[in-house]
Amino acid sequence: MLGRMMDMPLTITHLLRRAASYHAHREIVSVRPDKSRVRTTYGDLATRSARLANALTKLGVKPGDRVGTLAWNHHQHLECYYGVPAMGAIVHTLNIRLAPAEIGYIANHAGDSVIVVDQSLWPLFEKFRASVTSLQHVMVVRDKNEPLPPGTLDYDAVLAEASPDFAWPELPENTGAMICYTSGTTGNPKGALYSHRSTVLHALTASLPDVIGFAMSDVVLPVVPMFHASGWGLPYAAVLVGAKLVLPGPHLDPTSLLDLMQQEKVTVAGGVPTIWLGILALLDAEPKRWDLSSVRTMAIGGSAAPPALIDGFRVRHGLSVTHAWGMTETNPVGTVARVKPHLEADVEAAKALRATQGLALPFVETRHVDDTGRLLPWDNQAVGELEVRGPWVSASYLKDEDAHRWTADGWFKTGDVVTICAEGYVRITDRAKDVIKSGGEWISSVALENALMAHPAIAEAAVFAAAHPKWSERPVAAIVTKPGASATDDELRAHLATQFPSMYLPDAYVRLEQIPRGSTGKFLKTKLREQYGNILLG
Ligand code: ADP
Repeated sequence: MLGRMMDMPLTITHLLRRAASYHAHREIVSVRPDKSRVRTTYGDLATRSARLANALTKLGVKPGDRVGTLAWNHHQHLECYYGVPAMGAIVHTLNIRLAPAEIGYIANHAGDSVIVVDQSLWPLFEKFRASVTSLQHVMVVRDKNEPLPPGTLDYDAVLAEASPDFAWPELPENTGAMICYTSGTTGNPKGALYSHRSTVLHALTASLPDVIGFAMSDVVLPVVPMFHASGWGLPYAAVLVGAKLVLPGPHLDPTSLLDLMQQEKVTVAGGVPTIWLGILALLDAEPKRWDLSSVRTMAIGGSAAPPALIDGFRVRHGLSVTHAWGMTETNPVGTVARVKPHLEADVEAAKALRATQGLALPFVETRHVDDTGRLLPWDNQAVGELEVRGPWVSASYLKDEDAHRWTADGWFKTGDVVTICAEGYVRITDRAKDVIKSGGEWISSVALENALMAHPAIAEAAVFAAAHPKWSERPVAAIVTKPGASATDDELRAHLATQFPSMYLPDAYVRLEQIPRGSTGKFLKTKLREQYGNILLG
């Protein structure tokens, strides 16, 4: 008889038990709206998650029920990340930057029966509350010294009254743990349901040194909101390894973040490029003000990190960047740009590789296909849609919406347009919905943006398609110049002309104070197209 291994389920509950048994003293720092810092521990996380589970049970929450959160990053939100899934219910993170009607749609669609709301976000909650017909109880995280709105429960007070012991059920690993919605730039938002298994496997893989890499000595700062694709899994990876967690609350401006990084001795931080563009600009202006010697790497993803950003941190400030790609549907990291040892020698090529979306994580597989679904070669030339599969890639949306996003053989169609090189590095040239097609030829907006952001006068650039009478579409660049700097259209054209054929060069430059941002802090090209999409029509 052959031996067998135990079939022990991979669950978030295990992470919670482990945090309590091995890392009870590890700290969780939460920044409140008034900028004061609350210090709790992993031991507190374990007992408070149990108290939350008891309180929710008393409110009638049963396994499989959805508990929404409308919250910044802080320890109470973390308790929802653990206590809700560990009791067998599903935590549903609501994106506070969406329009109220959209949040209402999403909460209703998921059928949230309880919502945990930050008191400072109450004005937003009030705007959609009435539309959530499934809602039975509202718990408010008191982050202001004001009386609670009538008919609501005080989150901390309810926990204080609840028992700190909860008999966590033995859950099958495919039990749903978290729901996250896509931001729905086209059509209604779609829900992705993450399982315990997918979450735990992702956390473990993200901790490998060639992925993002986490150790118990780390101090992890998720700048990325916990409502954006499970905070990129950072809150799970940190607890898995026993790293200190620093949760920035609502203070995401460059000065507050740099203060926090220095004072809490952050080693790994993660956020979208717009956050890091602001931080780099401030560091350039005041290079001596902060001691960032604790920082090991900054994980950047969510949209393309320009090479000028990655290199600016490295060359001018000695700070390393880890560029990663992911989606709400890939819970969330799918690829990461690490340079293989034999490719390090060519410094320029290695620099370019660091700015690609990188290599698939272990257990994730990538391929790209043409319009007819034919597989394309990994030759760095053939351009097609990226498809992925893996144990933390969604197999469907909630209620089976948009089933056409999956191929018959079980791959997810990402909507990202890419090339893949022989070494396996994925390079995104565009999102399918942002592609610029000029006279039948594809022009990569990402390549133009990267080149523009390498110009010394440019702080931010976004290139989008504008309607054109002859070529159907032509690229237009929206740019923000650095304080005190300027560049004429002719200078920018001359700068780009060294790298691109003339037909790729933008037909116009729109100068803005700031590029409009979407709900997760990324540049919002739909808004640019809406406002400036007709400027070439005269
Ligand atoms: P949203 O629709 O709000 O942007 P997601 O966060 O799920 O929602 O976005 C996923 C998309 O973000 C990807 O399909 C890709 O287009 C883009 N993206 C994520 N990471 C990167 C990256 N490192 N480089 C370029 N694009 C990225």
